[in-house]
Amino acid sequence: MTRVDRTQRATRLGQVQLYVGSSLDIDDVRRYRDLFGGVTLQGHAGLRIAERLRRDGDLRGVDLDPAVYLDQRVSNQLTFDFDLEPFDWIRAQRDLGLAVVRSAGRRIRVGRVEDLRHELAVSYASDVRVVLVLDDGWMGSRHIDALEQQLMAADRDVSLIFAACFDPLDSANKMAGLRRVLRWSRSSGRMVELLRTDPAGIVAATEGTRLAAIGIGTSTRHYGLPLPAQQRPDYVRRQHSPLVFLPSLLHWQRGAVLAALVPWGGAGITNCECTACESAGQDLTRFGRVYGSIPREVTEAIREHDVLALAAVVRSLVGSPDAAAALKQRCSEAVRLGRSVAASFKVRLDPPPAWQTAWA
Ligand SMILES: [Zn+2]
Repeated sequence: MTRVDRTQRATRLGQVQLYVGSSLDIDDVRRYRDLFGGVTLQGHAGLRIAERLRRDGDLRGVDLDPAVYLDQRVSNQLTFDFDLEPFDWIRAQRDLGLAVVRSAGRRIRVGRVEDLRHELAVSYASDVRVVLVLDDGWMGSRHIDALEQQLMAADRDVSLIFAACFDPLDSANKMAGLRRVLRWSRSSGRMVELLRTDPAGIVAATEGTRLAAIGIGTSTRHYGLPLPAQQRPDYVRRQHSPLVFLPSLLHWQRGAVLAALVPWGGAGITNCECTACESAGQDLTRFGRVYGSIPREVTEAIREHDVLALAAVVRSLVGSPDAAAALKQRCSEAVRLGRSVAASFKVRLDPPPAWQTAWA
């Protein structure tokens, strides 16, 4: 870390808000928007919710990921064919009166520099943010130079979504790549947003990202690519145990792990002060089970806790005089605590994510 980086680091947190999937109802969208100060809706379902909010004169704090990359007809194309996508997302966002207007968004496979150049060269009005759905390999040392060169040459505001089977920022190397992009943003004055991201977006929001839209479910924390066949049985088995956000670890753990912590009273990592946990009168070990299939009411109760707990983390950083220092301290504590509990109680916690270890 150079002296220049330290002096340039903004201590003020960029906007951290919720990335909402396509299945929420409008009342939840309103509530989550009020909790975080903003929400990012997705696709045509999101557009319909935004239209209803506009009719009610209640569109503040709402923006949209057009998410055209989810359309298989588009993502399977080897070359870009703009006739394939007749829907004019830019016009739709403008007609709605959204404060932020984003391009349709197409996946750019790793190493396809021409596709990247092409997407960045499409002619839009100056206020349109170009959505780039980048395979996670773009953040690695092999491709980051090419990505940075194209961003510099295009000199535009961009919204990044990462595509991967699992965590797209799963190494110190990729976190370093993300930091390169953020350094470019700070030095050029161009905006880099992270959409559909995980709490790594909070780190980015202390380092120049103007907006990070974090998803609560695994399907909204990145753009999920198909799993390799040999990993699918293990993945399916793990789905029987719900993921729960632990504020103490700033990350998710499985219900099976929470169950294993019950004999040790949660080992000091299962507390939560969100209103959902307070009204339940129990800590997070109440979600410590493995199911055949997870009942809907359990999924909803966990989502409610996850959203409230994440909002509390963000609020505490917004209120901090130095958000970067405060987050760094929380990360160090989370990594130390997780490792200590795993070692002391022989519980197989999911390891801390790279955005914590690469930075703590
Ligand atoms: Zn809670």
